[in-house]
Amino acid sequence: MPRSAADYINSVRDGRVVYYRGGKRVDDITTHPIISIAVKHAADLFDVKDRLYDDPNYGRISRYFKVPRNTNDLLERYKLIYEDTLRFDGLFNIVQAIGSDALFSLMIVARKVDRKYGTNYYDRVMKYYEYVVKNDLAIAVAQTDVKGNRAKRPHEQEDRDMYLRVVEVRDDGIVVNGAKIHTTQGGPVANEIIVLPYRAMVEGDKDYAVAFAVPANTKGLKFIVRPVLEYDGNPNAVNAASRFEVESLTIFDHVFVPWDRVFMFGGEWDLAGQLAWTFATYHRFTAISYRAATANLYLGAALYAARANGIENAPHVRDWLVQMIMYKEIMRMGAMAAALEPWIDEGIAVPNPPVYTNVSKLYANAHFIDVVHGLIDIAGGLIATMPSHDDYINPEERQYISKYLRGAVDGDTRYKIMSLVRELGASHLMGYLLTAMIHAEGSEAASKIGMLREYNYKEAEELINKVLSKIKL
Ligand SMILES: Cc1cc2nc3c(=O)[nH]c(=O)nc-3n(C[C@H](O)[C@H](O)[C@H](O)COP(=O)(O)OP(=O)(O)OC[C@H]3O[C@@H](n4cnc5c(N)ncnc54)[C@H](O)[C@@H]3O)c2cc1C
Repeated sequence: MPRSAADYINSVRDGRVVYYRGGKRVDDITTHPIISIAVKHAADLFDVKDRLYDDPNYGRISRYFKVPRNTNDLLERYKLIYEDTLRFDGLFNIVQAIGSDALFSLMIVARKVDRKYGTNYYDRVMKYYEYVVKNDLAIAVAQTDVKGNRAKRPHEQEDRDMYLRVVEVRDDGIVVNGAKIHTTQGGPVANEIIVLPYRAMVEGDKDYAVAFAVPANTKGLKFIVRPVLEYDGNPNAVNAASRFEVESLTIFDHVFVPWDRVFMFGGEWDLAGQLAWTFATYHRFTAISYRAATANLYLGAALYAARANGIENAPHVRDWLVQMIMYKEIMRMGAMAAALEPWIDEGIAVPNPPVYTNVSKLYANAHFIDVVHGLIDIAGGLIATMPSHDDYINPEERQYISKYLRGAVDGDTRYKIMSLVRELGASHLMGYLLTAMIHAEGSEAASKIGMLREYNYKEAEELINKVLSKIKL
């Protein structure tokens, strides 16, 4: 049954173990002063008009869960993510996007594993998919392990729990132990957590080659949530006062997973990398779709700041605006191109993996900092030094702030614009976003490795051979 925002909020009052700042356990995430805002952001997705479609097999379900079969389906998915991000004030809403990225990759890889090893993972994945779509669930994906010494493989780590692993095999399922990190929303806000392997494995890593799903209130599962410094204790928060997503250190303390929720386990270690990589491809497509929309926050803020300062037509400002337009449009073009030339794998459309998703994602990794640079340059030092909101609302001070902060527009208007620019360019949120734009949806190195491994050099090689053949020795 499709759910409303209220249904979703009721569903996450389920006794899950969540900690926020100082070791205190959060009794109810839906009323907690900080985490409830992340819950509300997730909940808003369930009230979006037209968010459902009629699926021939599953009835009326969320468009996020529509399995892409062709270019059109991928283009629709890009637009869905782009438009929802705009709808939610430029902030991505992850709770059905990331879960569907994981489900599509599990559908593809489960078939390959079954063919090679005679297992029945595909049936399990589809049964779980049916459960998810029919109950309209919010999902987190915990892929990133804590990883310990990065130079060592999972089984080579000094502490064997640096990658999540199977510690016991029972008749009715497996017991896993370890921790995942950076789990967005998911952790403390989702109904279900899908766990995927982070990397390619070798035979010695087979205890670590595991994929499964568990409800967020499963015994032994614990979420230690990041401090939301962009809002918590910050009276100057603007967008962050009403919207943010939270990440957690997600602990699996001897968590039991029944067999019907296990989607990869041990013996198939040689396909763990393919599962990690297929998920990453979908998730990078999601990334460039939402990042294009988020770029509007920076482009729009830069434009308004330029107007407020009376410099909209200055040549250097126009240069920055061009850079920001390029940043946004390269993301959009990448998403559309990836949809136009999909790979069809096991009957499912994968956004063009080696090239377009990675090119755009790498552009975002490298150039978000230039976008921030441009915004700060246009805004001026005010965004680091301006009076606080508390001063602004004190009538005694406000008359001066209003008078002396005027630019090409009146002081109140400029103060308002610069408050948002401060959040986007000189705040905890900016630091968080900058880190996210470099690391979220996989590090730069991972994108480069993926692109180089799959890139087809044929055209370039043929051209060079043709040109070299002109040289007579
Ligand atoms: C805001 C945000 C949200 C996120 N949400 C999610 C989520 O919902 N689910 C999820 O699973 N993950 C999530 N991630 C995790 C994201 O995918 C990782 O941050 C990314 O994969 C990099 O891993 P890391 O942060 O552990 O950095 P590290 O892997 O520690 O990287 C640090 C540096 O070490 C380098 N490095 C790492 N390993 C090696 C090696 N073997 N050899 C040489 N160099 C190496 C890296 O290239 C990088 O330069 C999120 C991250 C952020 C920032």
